Amino acid sequence: MIKILANDGISKAGIEKLEANGFFLSTTNIPQEKLISEINEQEYDVVLVRSATKIRKDIIDQCPSLKMIGRGGVGMDNIDVDYAKENGKSVINTPAASSSSVAELVFAHLFSMVRFLYGANRRMPMEGDTNFKNLKKAYSAGKELQKRTLGIIGFGRIGQEVAKRAIGLGMRVLAHDKFINEANISLNFFNGDKKTFTIETIEMDELLKQSDFVTLHIPKIGDEPLISAEKIGLMKNGSGLINTSRGGLVDETALMFALDKEKLAYAGLDVFENEPNPSIHLLMHNAISMTPHIGAATNEAQDRIGIELADQIISFFKK
Ligand code: NAD
Repeated sequence: MIKILANDGISKAGIEKLEANGFFLSTTNIPQEKLISEINEQEYDVVLVRSATKIRKDIIDQCPSLKMIGRGGVGMDNIDVDYAKENGKSVINTPAASSSSVAELVFAHLFSMVRFLYGANRRMPMEGDTNFKNLKKAYSAGKELQKRTLGIIGFGRIGQEVAKRAIGLGMRVLAHDKFINEANISLNFFNGDKKTFTIETIEMDELLKQSDFVTLHIPKIGDEPLISAEKIGLMKNGSGLINTSRGGLVDETALMFALDKEKLAYAGLDVFENEPNPSIHLLMHNAISMTPHIGAATNEAQDRIGIELADQIISFFKK
């Protein structure tokens, strides 16, 4: 029987599919330092992780029973992918399953920013009954998203999902991508109607200069932040920045400085440089809408991730 360890959990839909196909599955979380001995003792064939568990060279070298490593999600920074493949292990992930969820979170942050929900939600419980009129005044200069320009950096799966939603809201969309020159964005409406827009990508600096909001959807690229103090300097005064991609893409110190100087009006962050211990200064900042890396954390995305992993495992072992 093929044995699978889903060390960071897997959705019920994924469990049911694997068990129905005769696979043994454990969802007990094994601490990182005990993983090698547990995998060897139980002779697991497959280890599935999300972002918490790391599959590095030591595990790949010392666990001969492992045939497959699976990542529920997109980014595989926690797995030594090339080394695993060189050593005959199959490596799979679920690139498309969470795109819609991340794209929706971008809009959660956008709406939170333009209507100051991040601030109102913090202060209403403390002051709402005694300071209502002042709070009303403090959060009155809201903005509408429609007709404003959204700049999307990284026009892959998530970037394009973001574009769909922005077009639906009546926003102007600009996109930049290192490798994609244009993309057809198809909106499918509830009544079966479909409309396709072709968006040509532009240079990043041009996008930064023209956008009211900039949102990042690229993988982590080396150690230098993509959005440095210099790049923030190119952005429109009073604009907003959203990062739901990876911590480290934005220079957090430069971002806080820009917010303090009111160069930028607000930011939305789902990812942080030093996860899981982000900078306390950032966390306390009163112009940032923030979430603890929950871009893919919807029931729908988790179901799709579990099923996509199960399908790939089934086809690998049953071929
Ligand atoms: P994708 O591969 O479909 O798209 C990424 C795009 O970025 C590609 O089109 C690529 O050409 C482009 N790109 C790469 N380097 C670039 C650069 N230096 N400048 C400009 N463009 C560049 O990936 P995706 O599925 O859209 O995911 C995007 C990011 O979202 C990933 O970093 C992933 O880790 C992150 N993500 C976060 C969460 C979350 O929970 N917050 C969930 C899923 C994915």
